Amino acid sequence: MSKIHLSKSKYCKCVQCEKILWLGRYKPEVAAVEDKETIFENGRKVGELAKGLFGEYEDIEFDITLTQMIEKTKKLLEEKPNVITEASFSYENNFCSVDILKNDEDGVELYEVKSSTSIKEIYLDDVAFQYYVLSSLGLNVKKAALVYVNNEYIRGEDLDISQYFIIEDITEIAMAKQDEVRANIEHINNFMEAHDRDNEPNMEIGMHCCNPYSCDFWAYCTKELPKPNVFDISGMYKSQKFESYAEGKVSFEDLRSANINPRYLEQIDFELNDRGPKVEKQAIKDFLNSLKYPLYFIDYESCNYPIPELEGTKPYQQIPFQYSLHIIKEEGAPLEHKEFLGDINDKNIIRTFAEHMINDLQEDGSVIVYNKSFESARNREIGEMYPDLKGQMNRINDNMVDLMVPFRQRNYYTKEMEGSYSIKYVLPALYPDDPELDYGNLPSVHNGGEASDAFLNLKGKSPEEQEQTREDLLKYCWLDTYAMVKIWEKFKEVAK
Ligand code: SF4
Repeated sequence: MSKIHLSKSKYCKCVQCEKILWLGRYKPEVAAVEDKETIFENGRKVGELAKGLFGEYEDIEFDITLTQMIEKTKKLLEEKPNVITEASFSYENNFCSVDILKNDEDGVELYEVKSSTSIKEIYLDDVAFQYYVLSSLGLNVKKAALVYVNNEYIRGEDLDISQYFIIEDITEIAMAKQDEVRANIEHINNFMEAHDRDNEPNMEIGMHCCNPYSCDFWAYCTKELPKPNVFDISGMYKSQKFESYAEGKVSFEDLRSANINPRYLEQIDFELNDRGPKVEKQAIKDFLNSLKYPLYFIDYESCNYPIPELEGTKPYQQIPFQYSLHIIKEEGAPLEHKEFLGDINDKNIIRTFAEHMINDLQEDGSVIVYNKSFESARNREIGEMYPDLKGQMNRINDNMVDLMVPFRQRNYYTKEMEGSYSIKYVLPALYPDDPELDYGNLPSVHNGGEASDAFLNLKGKSPEEQEQTREDLLKYCWLDTYAMVKIWEKFKEVAK
């Protein structure tokens, strides 16, 4: 039997589910197309930075045939002691490039670099696979380690790479997993041998479909399920969904009298019985009465850097760079609008953001946000970074009111919300087919992720392109707070 080519990433996919490998080989077109550009880019940046962790290094450049990489590695291995990045090896068609290899007189140390801030179980399998390849080739692997990001690190004026990374020695774990790796490789080869192109394997869905990663083939593997089904219930734990699925309670009809949370039953009931909107007038009135003029409808946009670029910030810290603010000063007053969009080159962008906001929110009134936890956390962080602003940030947080609460409490619910209280569901449910409130009609920025990417990508753009992107960012954020005003108006309408 000829062995299939297994890279470390393919091996890890098979540890999750063998069918991922089969579908990837024979039906790649059925995978969900998800934009993972930012994740890949973050990984690339962190990987590049880590290369310098042990000083000077020799880099093996990627070559599609792999043989050149393997040959170059062989040569460099003879020039010990040295540090080789992307050192490449193949044993019985099991291939790996080691992120960093310390090549000493008496053996090698392998380091796998991850851009995440914690160790996941699958990383251990990744390193164990590399350990297997290298040791099978006769190398003395003295140490196997994971290198990942220290999310407690606070950047000073300069980046301290030794503080930024955490190195975790997992040699013993990698060694203990060697029998498992061997058995897995054999199993994967047998599995692929038994299932050729015309013989698609049957694989039951389960928790492995979302752990450690959400599988790109989920839609394909669940295409025969009735719609809607248990996996469409909003807020239910995945484990409970799979339990219900395993018990044969899959469709909403199956679940209508199940012993589950009343919130889930309500979603099912509204869907099956095509119920009209539920409005608890008194609760909505109470919410409206709790608001104090001036009303400030505000929304922040933020971005994050895996490698902190700003002094005083941590890896992946959310950096607020923009806000939109709609204001109604008093009952019946016209709607006003203010906004802030920072400069990508501003080293003090967080402070600039905060000072503008404090200036715009001078008079005490209700600071209305959608999903308070995000904005209030940013305000707390600003207060911690700049003690002189702490009082003002606390004041803004004390005035904060969450427009999401009446939806979370189901004081207002419609079938179209599909059990969710996210603004993505709530807004079109309240204003169906309203082009003014349709994010799809915006030019280039349609959601928070795109806003973050657009802002971060400003650096490499021409002045004209920058101007266009900034305009698009302003339009997007404007709509976020205008949508909140429209929700407030709807509350007033239904509470009459
Ligand atoms: S959706 Fe689940 S069963 Fe289907 S390939 Fe992915 S992990 Fe395997």
